[in-house]
Amino acid sequence: MRLKAHDLDFSYEEDKKVLKDIHITAEEGEIVALVGPNGSGKTTLLRCLADFHTPEKGEVKIDGMDIKEYTLNEKARKLGYVPQIENISFPSTVFDTVLMGRKPYVSWKPSDQDRRIVSDLLEKLELSRFAMREVNELSGGQRQKVFIARALAQKPMILLLDEPTSNLDLKHQLEVLDIIQQQKKKGISSIIAIHDLNLAIRYSDRIVMLKEGEVYASGGMEVVSAENIEDVYDVEVHIGEHQGWMIVTPDKPL
Ligand code: ADP
Repeated sequence: MRLKAHDLDFSYEEDKKVLKDIHITAEEGEIVALVGPNGSGKTTLLRCLADFHTPEKGEVKIDGMDIKEYTLNEKARKLGYVPQIENISFPSTVFDTVLMGRKPYVSWKPSDQDRRIVSDLLEKLELSRFAMREVNELSGGQRQKVFIARALAQKPMILLLDEPTSNLDLKHQLEVLDIIQQQKKKGISSIIAIHDLNLAIRYSDRIVMLKEGEVYASGGMEVVSAENIEDVYDVEVHIGEHQGWMIVTPDKPL
């Protein structure tokens, strides 16, 4: 098991649990979609898994070892965290931002190999022509790819992505999810907080549905049932099928 978190409880304020008894796992090369309404705890959970928050109860294990036992550099080689982009202001060039991802490997100065890794990533993610541009000048989709590139530069075993497709047009959504899926072939596991249930169905191996800080359901595509969605999102939906894929559509007359 690459990542295993169990029994996690977390609160920002006393007596107000935001996460309760959370169990979540990711196998090697597995893509896990974390779904649930706004405020259900997706970001908080990802931040607990990335060790930015310390749960009051429970533990997060990476490759069998408690995350707290890793040094900062070791942790950065295991985990790449991609935050929500909309609030990020980043006064740095694309190249330098992605180069920061090499920090866990750099003694005091980036080597030619570090620069080559960054150039290769920029090329693969079709960002080379923006290399010397300020990240702040890029579109949402391009910026999202820069932060994914930065996480990939860490050469992590696990990617934790917080709504990597929100605010992106359809082409960029698919591009970003394709990049994540390509990592699967290298054995990299991903846990993705994602709003679009249809994309979650299409791109993930497993779905974990949160409701009010608890895992409401976890498993295969059967998690995305009309009953579960109504109970968790308070929306009636119709589950149909298109070319072998399940499709969720609102069941409400306009
Ligand atoms: P999601 O990502 O599913 O929208 P969040 O993890 O952002 O959910 O939020 C879960 C709950 O924690 C919400 O009730 C939210 O208001 C609360 N919360 C999030 N961040 C903070 C914070 N920094 N301080 C206090 N409460 C917070």
